[in-house]
Amino acid sequence: MVIKAKEKGLTVISEIEFAGYYTDAKMICITGSNGKTTTTMLIHHILKKSGVNASLAGNIGQSLARQVVENKTDVYVLELSSFQLDGMFDFKADIAILLNITPDHLDRYDYKMQNYTDSKFRVIQNLTESDYFIYNADDPIIMEEVGKKNIKGKKLPFSIQQTENMVAYINNNNQLTINLKPELIMSIHDLSLKGKHNVQNSLASGIASKILEIRNESVRESLSDFKNVEHRLEFVAKVNGIEFINDSKATNVNSTWYALESMENKTVWIVGGVDKGNDYESLIPLVKDSVTSIVCLGSDNAKIIEAFADVVDEIVETGSAYKAVMEGYRLAKKDQTVLLSPACASFDLFESYEDRGKQFKNAVRNL
Ligand code: ADP
Repeated sequence: MVIKAKEKGLTVISEIEFAGYYTDAKMICITGSNGKTTTTMLIHHILKKSGVNASLAGNIGQSLARQVVENKTDVYVLELSSFQLDGMFDFKADIAILLNITPDHLDRYDYKMQNYTDSKFRVIQNLTESDYFIYNADDPIIMEEVGKKNIKGKKLPFSIQQTENMVAYINNNNQLTINLKPELIMSIHDLSLKGKHNVQNSLASGIASKILEIRNESVRESLSDFKNVEHRLEFVAKVNGIEFINDSKATNVNSTWYALESMENKTVWIVGGVDKGNDYESLIPLVKDSVTSIVCLGSDNAKIIEAFADVVDEIVETGSAYKAVMEGYRLAKKDQTVLLSPACASFDLFESYEDRGKQFKNAVRNL
């Protein structure tokens, strides 16, 4: 139907675009290849805790249209996927956040990275001088596009690698710093979300909160008491000294990169599922460093076996979460970690990534 409508020259819009026609609420729009849900929920948490009348919508929670009809909300925190952005034309963000751009869903974009990048950058279309664009200055694809584009909104870059010209960064004392008056400083050890990727999410969330004039004290408190979202580097249990972590939401290589990067112990890695055009090359150094063996959890594991056969001691194939957990438990030693971080979609063996994560957790709890 959509293809036919487009052939007839009709414009096909997304639900967000449609709902946007009927509300004047402030829109904080979060997109990127990874970290959208975490950042959206973190910003929502900060706003709610400081008394702002804020709601979640977009790729998360109830539809924006329903909420526009039923609730009176001052600020919407919207998680936007590239699918939703593709159907948005006149919609305008007040604060647009772009976390990162790494290959994902390329099957939908004729396997052209530029098409996917253009889709993500739709989040800043229609920004005016009084709006804001928060972006990750450590991301080469984002920086290349920012260099090419005439961006109307105020540019607010953040970084975990550099401090110069950054609005938010990590200073020499390992303190998260947001350079918007009054300056906010807090130790990264006090952030509730661990891992470098989550420092990026915290920086972006901190900037957005400061723009909305949330008090420093309140931002600091919320950044330190936020509870991580299910299926994202979620600690499940320790069984006979072996730690199990559920990162089922890692459905592409980049999110798994961050998971492997944050492993502190030797790891048995459960990986696999529906490959969306993955290139595993970037994971090889991390796997060499910390992964002892691999448990494949997918119907077709050929690419994984080919990529890592010479890198780890053992690779086994499994076809269910239960078997994967049993193999993980067999292969891991005391003080090691079994990490489910599939780098792939779940639809070959599971209904969804939630289903995969839940089955994994159940199997662990039954050990
Ligand atoms: P999304 O909604 O964009 O899919 P999530 O917040 O659900 O992102 O996180 C998905 C996966 O990506 C998780 O495995 C998580 O550990 C990882 N992740 C979270 N934030 C980032 C980030 N800023 N960069 C890279 N990976 C991230």
